Amino acid sequence: MFCRNCGKEINENASICLNCGASVKPVAKDSNSMAIVGFIMSFFVSIAGLICSIVGYRNAVNGNADGKGLALAGIILSAIRLAFDLFIAIIYISMFIALISSSVHGPQALLTLDFM
Ligand SMILES: [Zn+2]
Repeated sequence: MFCRNCGKEINENASICLNCGASVKPVAKDSNSMAIVGFIMSFFVSIAGLICSIVGYRNAVNGNADGKGLALAGIILSAIRLAFDLFIAIIYISMFIALISSSVHGPQALLTLDFM
């Protein structure tokens, strides 16, 4: 990289420029695109949002990117969505089972709940 002050090439790991002595700011971290994608995905596709958010969170923890809070929010949102989706799926499955039972035992079975 190059010194912002004098423009001389300096070592990537150097904290000050050896040429002019100016302090070198750390390289700007990547904006954590995985955390952003994960956060957005968590509203639509919970499992994809969860995976992207976990990857984004790991990047943030490793110090390769920022957006740790965003990634964490994405993980929590995705987990809630995933739990909700599973809850809905269970309701649909039990309704489906009830429907099959009612077609076997007749529509009266649904009303009287004696299909078990
Ligand atoms: Zn310099």
